[in-house]
Amino acid sequence: MIIRFREISNKAKPYILDGFRKAFRYSSLYKDCLVKARHESPRFKKDGNLAKRLKVEYKCNTCMNLFSQKEINVDHINPVVPLDKTMNDMTLGEYYKGCFTDVLQVLCKPCHKIKTKEENVIRSNVRTLNINKKMTEEDIDRGYELITAIVLTKIIAEKCHVDSDLAMHKNAINYYEKQLKELEEKYEEVITNK
Ligand SMILES: [Zn+2]
Repeated sequence: MIIRFREISNKAKPYILDGFRKAFRYSSLYKDCLVKARHESPRFKKDGNLAKRLKVEYKCNTCMNLFSQKEINVDHINPVVPLDKTMNDMTLGEYYKGCFTDVLQVLCKPCHKIKTKEENVIRSNVRTLNINKKMTEEDIDRGYELITAIVLTKIIAEKCHVDSDLAMHKNAINYYEKQLKELEEKYEEVITNK
């Protein structure tokens, strides 16, 4: 039976997601990821003597610093909800597959927050190319190139704090968007003329 998230009531959704999350946290995939990032070092007592128990930390895969278990997250390198989809479009099976993958990494909470934010920027900017049968392959490629350029430049612009650079990025975005609009309009004309 195929169930999509959009068919599940909003009241039930959090319980289902919580169940997935808990099952993931107790999975061997999750534990294996922690083991790989684990770093042990000697711990010293106040009197300078070596403590029996080792200090256990985990290495963030982005900033490469060491953190306690409280300060890290196990991150899905490929987001569980793909960047060009919303959860509502997905079936429970697809979500399950995305969740229980071994393509995982340990990230410290600040690095994880940045990654999630970037993913959400891409998500909110993702648009699909309006392809129609008359479109040449060359123009389809050009369309995707432009969409990618727009999204990437928007991400760079979000991080940019230098006014003159920001203006340059905004000009570039406008330029790409204009090109994309022209490309799509070229084919709209073909449709309306016939
Ligand atoms: Zn980090």
